[in-house]
Amino acid sequence: MTLAIMGAMPEEIAPILEKLGEYKTTKYAGNTYYEANYKGIQLVIAYSKIGKVFSTLTATTMCEHFGATKLLFSGVAGAISPKLKVGDLIVATKLAQHDLDITAFGHPFGYVPEGSIYVEADKELLALSKEVALEMGKSVQEGIIATGDQFVADEERKNWIGEIFHADALEMEGASVAVVCDALHVPFFILRAISDAADMDASFSFDEFLETSAVESAEFVMKMVDKIVR
Ligand code: SAH
Repeated sequence: MTLAIMGAMPEEIAPILEKLGEYKTTKYAGNTYYEANYKGIQLVIAYSKIGKVFSTLTATTMCEHFGATKLLFSGVAGAISPKLKVGDLIVATKLAQHDLDITAFGHPFGYVPEGSIYVEADKELLALSKEVALEMGKSVQEGIIATGDQFVADEERKNWIGEIFHADALEMEGASVAVVCDALHVPFFILRAISDAADMDASFSFDEFLETSAVESAEFVMKMVDKIVR
C-alpha cells in the first residue's frame, strides 16, 4: 500500500520528514516528493505550494504517478466557528470551494454542472480519527471546511463563507484535493490545525502560529498513519 501525506507549505510536512529521518527524494512536475518505507508500507510525502491549482497537481501526481491509494492532508487553517481556537484541530467531514461562482446562471455558490457543492471525506478514515483523538486525549472537532484561492483576513468575508457553506474553517487546498481524490476513488482525510481566525489579525496570527499549529496537525496525522498500518 502507498499512503500519501500532503501539505501545502514546507512547514506543514517538515515535522513528518523529521520523524521519518530517512527518505528518497524525487523531483516531479515542479515539486519534490519524499518516499519512505514506514512500518511495512510505502509513504509518499509532499507539499504542493499554496492554493487550489498547485494542490490539485500534487494530489493528482501522488495518486496517478506515485500510486497512492489513500491520502492524508495535514496543515493549518483559519477558524470560522468561534469554538475553534488557535492550535485546535478540525477534521473535514466534507469540503466546498467558496470561490467557485457561476451564480449568474442561477446555480448555487460552489456548484458547477456535473460537480457537487460538497465532497465528503472517507467515513472509515473519519472513524479512525475518532479513535486516534480518544487515544491521544485530544478534542478534535469535525466540521465543514471551505476552500478558496484567497487568504481570508476579513470578518465579513469569513462570515459570508460560514453562512453560505455552513463552514467551520477555511483554507486554500482542501476542497481541490477532495475533488481529485473523489474522482480517482482514493479515500482521503483532511486535517487542519487552526492558525488564525480569518479576521483582520489573521496574517499576524498565521505568522506566529504556523509552525506550532503545523506540528499539532502533523503529530495527529502520523498517529493516523500508525493506525492505518495496524
Ligand atoms: N505566509 C505565506 C502565505 C500563507 S497563505 C507566505 O507569505 O508565503 C495561508 C496558508 O495557510 C494556505 O496554505 C491556507 O491553506 C492556510 N490558511 C491558514 N489560514 C488561512 C486563512 N485565514 N485564509 C485562507 N487560508 C488560510
